[in-house]
Amino acid sequence: MDTTDRKDSVAKIKEAHRLLKRYEYTPQKIQRGYTNKTLYINISDNTIKSKDVPEEIKDKFTGGKGLGLWYLWNSVTKDTKWDDPENEIIISPGPVGGITQYPGAGKSLVVSLSPTTGSVMDSNVGGHFGPLMKFSGWDALEIQGKAKEDIIIYIDGNKGIVEIYEVPIGPVNSHILAEEVTEFFAESEEEKRNISVISAGEAAEHTLFGVLNFSFYDRRKKVQRLKQAGRGGIGTVFRNKKIKAIAVKYNGVKGDSNNPADIDTIRKLGLKLHKEIKEHDKDQCRMREIGTAHLVEIMDDYDLLPVHNFKYGSHEEAYKIDSKVLAKKVVQGSPDGCWHGCSMSCAKAVQDYELKTGPYKGHKVVVDGPEYETVAGVGSNCGIFDPDYIIECNFYCDTYGIDTISFGTTMAFLMECYENNILNKEITGGIELNFGNKDAAMEVLHQMAKGTGFGKIAGLGVRRIKNLLIEKYGADPKFLNDIGMEVKGLEYSQYVSKESLAQQGGYALANKGPQHDEAWLIFMDMVNNQIPTFEDKAEALHYFPIFRTWFGLNGLCKLPWNDIEPPDNHLTDEPAKVPEHVENYVQLFNSVTGKNIDKEEMILQSERVYNFQRVFNLKMGFGTREHDIPPYRSMGPVTEEEYLSRQERYDKQLKELVGVNPEKMSTAEKIEALREYKYKQYDKLVDAVYKRRGWNKNGIPTVELMKKLGMDFPEVIKLIEEHSSE
Ligand code: SF4
Repeated sequence: MDTTDRKDSVAKIKEAHRLLKRYEYTPQKIQRGYTNKTLYINISDNTIKSKDVPEEIKDKFTGGKGLGLWYLWNSVTKDTKWDDPENEIIISPGPVGGITQYPGAGKSLVVSLSPTTGSVMDSNVGGHFGPLMKFSGWDALEIQGKAKEDIIIYIDGNKGIVEIYEVPIGPVNSHILAEEVTEFFAESEEEKRNISVISAGEAAEHTLFGVLNFSFYDRRKKVQRLKQAGRGGIGTVFRNKKIKAIAVKYNGVKGDSNNPADIDTIRKLGLKLHKEIKEHDKDQCRMREIGTAHLVEIMDDYDLLPVHNFKYGSHEEAYKIDSKVLAKKVVQGSPDGCWHGCSMSCAKAVQDYELKTGPYKGHKVVVDGPEYETVAGVGSNCGIFDPDYIIECNFYCDTYGIDTISFGTTMAFLMECYENNILNKEITGGIELNFGNKDAAMEVLHQMAKGTGFGKIAGLGVRRIKNLLIEKYGADPKFLNDIGMEVKGLEYSQYVSKESLAQQGGYALANKGPQHDEAWLIFMDMVNNQIPTFEDKAEALHYFPIFRTWFGLNGLCKLPWNDIEPPDNHLTDEPAKVPEHVENYVQLFNSVTGKNIDKEEMILQSERVYNFQRVFNLKMGFGTREHDIPPYRSMGPVTEEEYLSRQERYDKQLKELVGVNPEKMSTAEKIEALREYKYKQYDKLVDAVYKRRGWNKNGIPTVELMKKLGMDFPEVIKLIEEHSSE
C-alpha cells in the first residue's frame, strides 16, 4: 500500500471509529525497574482500572511471565476454556526489561490459556511494546472479557490516557494494520518511533495457532517491523476477543528510564558485552550477519535438521536454503536490534521482496526474518528447499498471524499423511500435498487466512487433525500418534531429537509443550557427551529449564546469554552455563532493582515460577506424567524407510545397547525392539528428572517443595493434595 492509499485508509478509520471509554491516570514514576501498577481492562463492559502490584507478589513472581501466570491463575477456574471471556491475555516486560545499555533487554512476556493445549501458555517476544508500556506506568497489562465489535486499545504514556475505540472498518492483516494504527496515533513523523502496536491477522481468527505481532519502528526502512509471540495460539485468543490492535505511545525513552539503582554497573556490563559481540560474533554464531538462520547448515551437518516431518535429519538440497544463501537476501550492514541497544542485532529482514501469490501479489514488502525455525519448519521439514518460498511463506504467516513453527510442523504432518493415503484429494479439495509441493502449501496457507476449504482443517493443528482423521476417516491411531509431532497439543519446534535422550525430555517435559526455549541439550548430550548418565541428564533438565525461565521473568532475550560467549568460556568448569554471563545477569538484576541476589537466588526465583506453572497445568486438567510422553518419531524410526536411512547406526544400537543380534531380525522386528528399548530409557529419564525436580512419580511438585519455595498458596496445596492421593 503506498503512502497516499494508507493516508486515505487512515482517514476512513478516523471517520468510522467510536470512542467507547477513556480512562485518565497519573503515570507512576518507575522505581528500580517496577512501576508497581498493573493496568486491568475488561473489554466486555469497558472497565479500566489500576491495580497495585504488592511487594509479596514481586518477591514470589519477580515479573514478566511470573506476573502473567499469577494474574491468569486468579482469573480462571479449572473449567475455563481459551475462548471464555474470563480467559485473559497478560503482557508484562519484567523489571530489567527496558534498559538500553545491555543487549537483549526489550522483551515482553505474554500469558494466556491456549487454544492448542487448553492449558497455560507463555510466549517471549521482541518489539518495543513491553518497555514503552512500562515507561507509560504499567508493569503489566491484563485484558479480560470479549468485545462485541472489533476494538483498538490505546495507551498514551505521556498524557496518562487509556482509550478503547470501536473500529468497525479497516484492515486486519498485520503488515498494513501496524502501519495504519501507528499513523492513526502519531502526531508527527518523529513520534512513529515511539509507538508500538500489537496485532494478529486474518488467519488468527480461523486457525488455532494464531500469533501476536509486536511492532517496532525501523527508522532506516521507515516501516513497522514485526516480532512474534508465536507459540500456542495467543493471537487466536486476541482475535476471538475481537481485539484488532493494542497501541502504546511513549515519547522520551532515555537510558535511565527504568530508574535503576546503579546505572554505572549496568553501563559497565553492557560495554563489556558489546565488545565481546563486536570482536567475536563473526567467528561464533554470526548473529549480526544472518541471525538464527546460521543454524541451518550446522543442524544439517549433525543430522538434526528436520526433513519430511522429522523423518530425516539432513538433505542433499539443504545448501539451497542455508545461511550463505539467506545472507544475500537479508539487508546487511545495519543495526538491527529489536530493542534499543541490542548490538547482537539479529532481527534480520528482507527488503523490497515482491510477493508472488495471494491478496498482496505484486506488492513489495519488508519481511522480518527468516529465522532458523521458519527456514526449517516451512522449508526442509516440508521438503521445500526454495528460499523465495520460505520468505513468501514467512511474510504471509506473519501478516496473517500464524505461527511459522506450528504451520511448518502441521504442514509436514499433513504431507506425510497425504503420501500415506490417509489424506487424499477428496479431503484436501483437490490439493496435492506431497512433500516439496510449495504451491500446495501456499494454497493451504491462503485458505487458512480466509477460513475456507482444507485450510479449516489444517488450521486445527496436529493434535486435532489426528483425532479428526482417526474418528472421521478411520486412520490408524498408532501410526498417526507416532508421526504427529506434538506433545500437550503444541507442535514441535524444529530440531530432530532422535539421538538425544535429554532433548526428548527437554521437549516433552516442557511446561507449555515442545518448544526449545526451555531446554536445548542436543549438543551437550549427543555431540559433546557431557551428560552421559541419567543423573547428569536429570541435572541438566533441572538446571537449564529453570535458568532459561529467568529471562522470561525479567523481560530479557536469551540469545546474548549463549549465542555469544567469552573467548575463554571453554576453560571454565561449566562452559554450557556460560558462567561469566550468568554473573552478568545477577549483577544486572541487582543493579536495576537494588536487591542483592546471588546465582542461587536467581535459580530460586525461576524455580518458584516454574513449579507454579506446573501446578497451573494440573489445575487445568494436565500437568501429570501421561502428558509428558513424546511421539515416537521424536525418539526413533517409525517407518522402514526411516530405519533403513540410518541402518548402520540403528543396527549398532541394537547390538550394543539393546543386546540383540540384528542380523537375524526383519526391519519390522528391529523397529519394535528399538522402540521398546527407547521408551524404557525415556521412562528412566523421566523418573530421574522428576526426582531431581522434587516432583512425585506422577510429575506433581510435592507439598514440601512448594513450601520450601514459598509458593504454598492454599489453592496450590489443595490441588497437589487432591491429585497426589489419586
Ligand atoms: S538478540 Fe536478537 S532477538 Fe534478542 S533482543 Fe537482540 S535483536 Fe532481539
